Amino acid sequence: MTSNRLAGAWRAGMLAAMFVALVAGPATGREPAGTIEDPVIDSAMTEAEAFEGLRPGCPEEIRKAQRLFDVTYLGFDGKIHKGQIVAHEELVDDIRHAFAVALREKFPMQSAIPVSHPRFRKNGFWDDDLSMEANNTSCFNYRPVTGGTRISNHGYGRAIDVNTVQNPYVKGKLVLPPGAKYDPEAPGTLTRDHPVTRAFVERGWTWAGEWKSPSPTDYQHFEKPDRR
Ligand SMILES: [Zn+2]
Repeated sequence: MTSNRLAGAWRAGMLAAMFVALVAGPATGREPAGTIEDPVIDSAMTEAEAFEGLRPGCPEEIRKAQRLFDVTYLGFDGKIHKGQIVAHEELVDDIRHAFAVALREKFPMQSAIPVSHPRFRKNGFWDDDLSMEANNTSCFNYRPVTGGTRISNHGYGRAIDVNTVQNPYVKGKLVLPPGAKYDPEAPGTLTRDHPVTRAFVERGWTWAGEWKSPSPTDYQHFEKPDRR
């Protein structure tokens, strides 16, 4: 084997190893323990990935105000998970606090993955329906309100949806995600007096689970609009 061919074979071997590492996760190939020290990683996007595919109409000052940060939570599998949220920089502390309360209260969450993730794309756009169907918890998405044209508080990184399947959006006969059912007794469900709800409300957030017709009752949704 010439040194060139040797180098080629070495490169091919490296590429194969990198591919295996990408597919299988950490090089050790072992399962994470699912503890605080060794959580299940649900999301580990870079800054560039987290904003890739953002709608071209999103104003620069809105984009610049968003922060990507890690959150830790208890999964429905009983393991500790690590995910990510993109939200307005002024609200990072509030959201981190609510996640800390959720962890303390053993309030399970399915996942926290930015809606920009490829698994939530439809026709290239960040798709709220796909995120809701996956029971994903997320915040920033520059998009119109559900069923309307004005920009949602999610579009400013000032609204968060939590466990969308346990906490559906209900407007008349419309339930999103389809087939979801609100059961206040089920784990991961928000109620007015739940410590997670209180953690948000005490910091000035509004819980849309208390909204009444003609507004939707949106159990998953908290928002803290900029009132200045
Ligand atoms: Zn929402």
